[in-house]
Amino acid sequence: MSEKHGVQQTGKNNSLRRIPSVDKVLGQPALDPVRIALPRDLITEAVRDELNDLRDRLRQNGDEAPGVEEIARRAVTRSLAMVSTSLHPVINATGVVLHTNLGRAPLSQSASAAIEEASAYNNLEYNLAEGERASRYSHAVAILRQLTGCEDAVVVNNNAAALVLVLAGFAQGKEVILARGQSVEIGGGFRIPDVMRQSGARLIEVGTTNRTYLRDYEEAITQETAIIIRVHASNFRIIGFTTEPDVEELTGLAHKRALLMVDDVGSGALLDTTRYGLKAEPMVQASIKAGVDLVLFSGDKLLGGPQCGVIAGRASTITRLKKHPLLRALRVDKLTLAGLQATLLHYLKGEAEQEVPVWRMISMPEETLRRTAEEWVQRLNQVGVACKVVAGQSAIGGGSLPGETLPTWLVAITPGQDNSPADAESRAGRLAATLRRTPTHVIARIEHGVLLLDPRTVLPGQEEALLAEVAREA
Ligand SMILES: *Cc1c(COP(=O)(O)O)cnc(C)c1O
Repeated sequence: MSEKHGVQQTGKNNSLRRIPSVDKVLGQPALDPVRIALPRDLITEAVRDELNDLRDRLRQNGDEAPGVEEIARRAVTRSLAMVSTSLHPVINATGVVLHTNLGRAPLSQSASAAIEEASAYNNLEYNLAEGERASRYSHAVAILRQLTGCEDAVVVNNNAAALVLVLAGFAQGKEVILARGQSVEIGGGFRIPDVMRQSGARLIEVGTTNRTYLRDYEEAITQETAIIIRVHASNFRIIGFTTEPDVEELTGLAHKRALLMVDDVGSGALLDTTRYGLKAEPMVQASIKAGVDLVLFSGDKLLGGPQCGVIAGRASTITRLKKHPLLRALRVDKLTLAGLQATLLHYLKGEAEQEVPVWRMISMPEETLRRTAEEWVQRLNQVGVACKVVAGQSAIGGGSLPGETLPTWLVAITPGQDNSPADAESRAGRLAATLRRTPTHVIARIEHGVLLLDPRTVLPGQEEALLAEVAREA
């Protein structure tokens, strides 16, 4: 045992000793092309990093050290990576419409164009008619008023920021009443109650996980209470023996006791999800109609716009928020405001289903999906890729509408043939990894050793690149 260990040790040390010096690698002709294009220090850094990584790998598993030319080639790749950005466009063929890991909502063409336009100078805080300073928060307000019926609104970086600002503004050192069943984790380990506590508010949870009555809220109100809040349980559903007072009842109680009613609806649905065979998602307009003081929602979930958080509601309440010092830290930038405005305009013009990608995907007819899948299969079969059309389900994702799916048609690729299911699983995994890593970055789904492509979430301009990539790799 110890002898064997000793032999291995020597092997490792030998290959470690064979690692070339930084200068030796730097002298390799393989580095010539980058030498013309990149600063010398950066190339030296890349070589040093490559050698350090190599040393670590050899210490760990005692492989043979590669030759100096190979090390130089790897240093080229590394130095090129150092001068490229790490955010890459990907093709989402998973069928998950709001894929949190893939940047949630893809923007409409007008929203992207508006962002590009706003990237130069613009009138972010300038009144063009009067030639005076103006507020950046005025920009999306007129459209939000029209769409939601609110009196005023303010936009911040995301919905979590909206929550913190509202609670810091109105409940610092005071109590906020929340139903226990709404004390949720929104993903990535972030819990609503923790976010809320950061604002300095004291959280009073009432009721039980599945049932909370109006009287539970009523009995919890004290001299210290400032807010009653409803948080939409976006990413899970309790079914069976459940009760929660509706937002009208809660608003009635809050106002009777001179408290603020705040409604965090989460996904910012402005269209009715039940029209597409999905469960009802709380709509922003309905909250305003119910009389809540403030409604909070994300810009990049079902709204289908850029990442931001919208606070809409009563003018007097919003005015107070606009004066809060924390707003400066959470304020939204010109690019986001431009993208949000353009997105909201689609709703105002009644064209959201056609123009906002999220809604175009949700409302896509099954027949269209089937035709697209059939066409893809035909084209792939022609170039020798064995695949077929199968029925399946797309998901909404993004912490909205948990467990809700839409029927779809998929392209199913089983790489290789009639081997054991375990082989198929690993072959499908390898194909998925290859598609993921190539410059086109196709993200597919795997089920039971079959690689699945869902046309629903593939954007119009991406189809050709997707098919070319799959044809090349499958
Ligand atoms: C998603 C969500 C949040 C957090 O929104 P972000 O925009 O991701 O910060 C807060 N509350 C609810 C109910 C949510 O669904």
